[in-house]
Amino acid sequence: EEPPAGAAVPQAGQDDLVLLRRVGVVDPSSLDDYRAAGGYLALRRAFRLGPAAVIREVLDAGLVGRGGAAFPTGRKWDATARQPDHPHYLVCNADESEPGTFKDRVLMEGDPFSLVEAMTVAAFATGCRRGYLYLRGEYPRALRLLTNAIERARERNLLGEDILGSGFDFDLEIRRGGGAYICGEETAIFNSIEGYRGEPRSKPPFPVEKGLFGKPTVVNNVETLVNVLPILTGGAAAYAAVGTGEGGSTGTKLFCLSGTVRRPGIYELPFGATLRELLTLAGGVPEGRELRAILLGGAAGSFVRPDELDIPLTFEGTRAAGASLGSGVVLVLDDSVDLGGVLLRIAAFFRDESCGQCVPCRVGTVRQEEALHRLTRGSGPADVTLLRDVGRAMRDASICGLGQTAWNAVESAIDRLGVFATGELSPQEGSAS
Ligand code: NAD
Ligand code: SF4
Repeated sequence: EEPPAGAAVPQAGQDDLVLLRRVGVVDPSSLDDYRAAGGYLALRRAFRLGPAAVIREVLDAGLVGRGGAAFPTGRKWDATARQPDHPHYLVCNADESEPGTFKDRVLMEGDPFSLVEAMTVAAFATGCRRGYLYLRGEYPRALRLLTNAIERARERNLLGEDILGSGFDFDLEIRRGGGAYICGEETAIFNSIEGYRGEPRSKPPFPVEKGLFGKPTVVNNVETLVNVLPILTGGAAAYAAVGTGEGGSTGTKLFCLSGTVRRPGIYELPFGATLRELLTLAGGVPEGRELRAILLGGAAGSFVRPDELDIPLTFEGTRAAGASLGSGVVLVLDDSVDLGGVLLRIAAFFRDESCGQCVPCRVGTVRQEEALHRLTRGSGPADVTLLRDVGRAMRDASICGLGQTAWNAVESAIDRLGVFATGELSPQEGSAS
C-alpha cells in the first residue's frame, strides 16, 4: 500500500512554505482543488505580461537551476527564445536519480498540476509548442498523477490549442526512463527520447542552441520549474527578497534528509539557513548516537564533518567551504554507520552507472572501486595515491558530469574525514567487503 502524498513531508500543511504549500493538503488528482489553492494564476499573469517580460521576471528573481548545477534559468530561457531556428522544445528533467534525492518526487506526487502549469509558462516564454516530461521509470505514482493532470488540463483548455484564448498552443507528453542514472544527463535524455542509446553528447553546443532533434531546447529540473509560479504570482522582487541572494541563492530550497536522522523527509528552507538548523529541524541523530559525517549534495557531492555544521546552505556558502549543495541531498551518518561500506557502495554505483562511452570514466570507476576494496581490507598509502591519480584523470578528461564527479565523495572522505589516513580504517569501517 502506498503511503499518503505528504508522508515524506514533515512540514506538510505549513502555509508559510512556498514550494510545499499544497503538498499533502490538496487532492493531487483534482484540478479544482489546485485552482482553489491558487493554481493557474501564474499562467494567466504570464499571458498578460508576454514572453519577454516573463523572462525578465525570472532573470530579476535570480532563479538558478535546482537540478544541481545552479545555472541561471532566465539566461537559459532567454538564449532559447532568441534562437531563430525552429521548432523550440521544452524538456522537464524529472529523471531524479541522484542517490538520496527525492524532492521532485514529492512535488510531482503531491502537487502535479503545478508542474504542468509551470511547463506551460516556460514553453510560452521560450516559444515552445511541444514539451517532454522525462520521468524516472521508478516513479509509477508520479506517472499516474501526472498523466491525470495532463488529461484534466487538456479537458479545460489549459493545454492544447489556443490555451485560454491566448492564441498560444502547447502540449506535452511523458517519456519514462528505463532505470539508467545517465539518462538524467540532459543530452542523454535527448538521445533517449530520440530512440538512441542513453549516452551523453559533448557540450558545447549547449541544448539552448542544439538540443532535442538538433533544435533549440530548454531543459529544466522539476523544482526549478515549480519556482517560476511564485515568481509570477508574487513578483520577482518579493521572490528575491527571500534567501541571501549570493550567487543565485534567492528563494527557498528543498532539502532531502535521509540516513540516520530522526525525522527524514523533504524540508523547505530559505537559502542561508545553516546545516545545523536543518539537522535540528529533522530531529538530529538518534538518541545515544554521535554524528559522524554528512554527505552533502549526493554521491557526486562531498562529506562534511560534525564541526562544519555552521556552513550556510547557499550555493556560495557551500562552495566556499569546499562542498556543494548539488540537488539538496543531506545524507546523515552517525557513528554506527560503516563508512567504508558507504564509500564502496558509492564507487559501485558509479562503476555500474557509467555509460562506458569514454575511457577515463569507464576504466577509472572500476579502478576506484578496486582500490577502495583493497584499502578497506587494510592496504597502504599507495592505493590512496592511486585513487588521487585516477580521480584527477576522471575529473579532467571525462565527457560528462558522471565521470567528472565520480571521485568527489571519496576524495572528501579522505581529505575531510581523514579516512585511510593511517592506511587502514577502524575495525568496524574495515569490515565492508
Ligand atoms: P552543467 O554545469 O554542464 O550545466 C548546467 C545547465 O546549464 C545545463 O542545462 C547546461 O546546458 C546549461 N549551460 C551551461 N553552460 C551554458 C552556456 N554557456 N549556455 C547555455 N547553457 C549553459 O551541469 P550538468 O552536467 O547539466 O549537471 C550537473 C549537475 O547535475 C551536478 O551538479 C549534479 O549534482 C546534478 N545531478 C542531479 C541529479 C538529480 O537527480 N537531480 C542527478 C545527477 C546529477
Ligand atoms: Fe559515459 Fe562516464 Fe563518459 Fe559520462 S563520463 S559519457 S557516463 S563514460
